[in-house]
Amino acid sequence: MLSEHVLEIFKEITRIPRESGFEGPVTDWLCKWAADRSLGCKRDATGNVLIIREAAPGKEDVPGLVLQAHQDMVCEKKSDFKFDFRKDPIPYVIKDGWMIAENTTLGADDGIGIAACLALLEDDAPTGRIECLFTISEETGMDGAEALEAGFFEGKTLINLDSEDEGQLFIGCAGGLNTKIRFRVRRGAPDAGAKLLRCSISGGQGGHSGDDINKGRANTVQLMARFLYSRLGDGLRLVSIDGGGKPNAIARECSAVVSVTGANAFKDAFKAFASDVKEEFHATDPGLEFECKAASSELDPLTRSAGARIITSLFASPHGVEAMSQDIPGLVQTSTNLASVHTGKGIVEIVTSQRSAATSERRAMAAKVRANFEQAGAEVRHMYEYPGWNPDVNSHILKRTVEAYRKLFAAEPEVKAIHAGLECGLFLQKFPGLDMISFGPTLRGVHAPGEKLELASMDKFVALLDEVVRNFE
Ligand SMILES: [Zn+2]
Repeated sequence: MLSEHVLEIFKEITRIPRESGFEGPVTDWLCKWAADRSLGCKRDATGNVLIIREAAPGKEDVPGLVLQAHQDMVCEKKSDFKFDFRKDPIPYVIKDGWMIAENTTLGADDGIGIAACLALLEDDAPTGRIECLFTISEETGMDGAEALEAGFFEGKTLINLDSEDEGQLFIGCAGGLNTKIRFRVRRGAPDAGAKLLRCSISGGQGGHSGDDINKGRANTVQLMARFLYSRLGDGLRLVSIDGGGKPNAIARECSAVVSVTGANAFKDAFKAFASDVKEEFHATDPGLEFECKAASSELDPLTRSAGARIITSLFASPHGVEAMSQDIPGLVQTSTNLASVHTGKGIVEIVTSQRSAATSERRAMAAKVRANFEQAGAEVRHMYEYPGWNPDVNSHILKRTVEAYRKLFAAEPEVKAIHAGLECGLFLQKFPGLDMISFGPTLRGVHAPGEKLELASMDKFVALLDEVVRNFE
């Protein structure tokens, strides 16, 4: 059975080191695998590999298919487990229908995709031309997909084998970019009789700015700006504001140092604000904590107008879901994340990130963020843009895959897209018009020790792939 063969090959792959950035051993192994079977193979300077099986006699007119998986895996282990990912084989057990790595990651993400490709290449079913693309460093920034040269493969249809839920077919992902904002600021002597206070908000749930942006979670930078804005009329001057972390994370904490003339009234207001906000976020962020106490700072307060411009524009900054998909119910189409703010002596910097499957919507979202901060006198720059994959509900490969799924399992697959990045978005940049789909077996706990593969779902995944490839036209 083809699925058993896939599992045999995957077991062999678990013995080959393939940490992101150190894929050499698996890259060499793939090239040798192709040479041993007299299959065409090329490798680019980055380490991406393409193995080619020409069309069977009589199948020369069938359109070519590209099957794609990534070579690397996330290498995580339990801290007390002695293990070297650069040389040791991954230890796994098979129990209760799952293949499990108890102390390390298993690397079924995406080793099972590689194994499925190789098993199909060895299978003797007559098919059209098949190209199997194995990219590098997907897990650490999709460097392989990014560096892929136009024309590296010829097929116009690609099946990505890097999804984690059997029964789900993915047909889209978001692209993104970061928008950085910089205020140049001046400081001045403190007001007579003013005191310094440090307010902090911590313990937010946070989360991923793509997958979790529609969950209504607290953004602590936004909350801090909301409170400070409510006190602007009361002689408040901003000294510093710092919060948030990575551009793709929802801010979990934020603190601000302010100079105020009525310290007690300010503290009382913060307390009342805290109790409102705790109630507002009682379900999503039960761990929110608020504190306001006397502070000191080496910095003088910002001029009143500079502080007000920063606080007002932070408060008015968009954050969260901008639009939902018009094709796929429940899918976020466009969003923005007010990610972080940091204060230096002469500058205050804010980082935001925008996502959308559609380039026009992503850029409009970024322009809206720009407009808000430019109006307040900041310099704004857009950077690190990567393309999305806008779902095409009329895609040919989608139609073929849905038909195959119905025929094999007498059930309806779920058709989905994600509001985060996939390699597929990057492929579109170099191969415009490429028709794509992504599916895979059921994996759980990926990227962490305990990662596991559900074997029954692998049987279905392999049967589906085989059915699609065999009958593709
Ligand atoms: Zn993966």
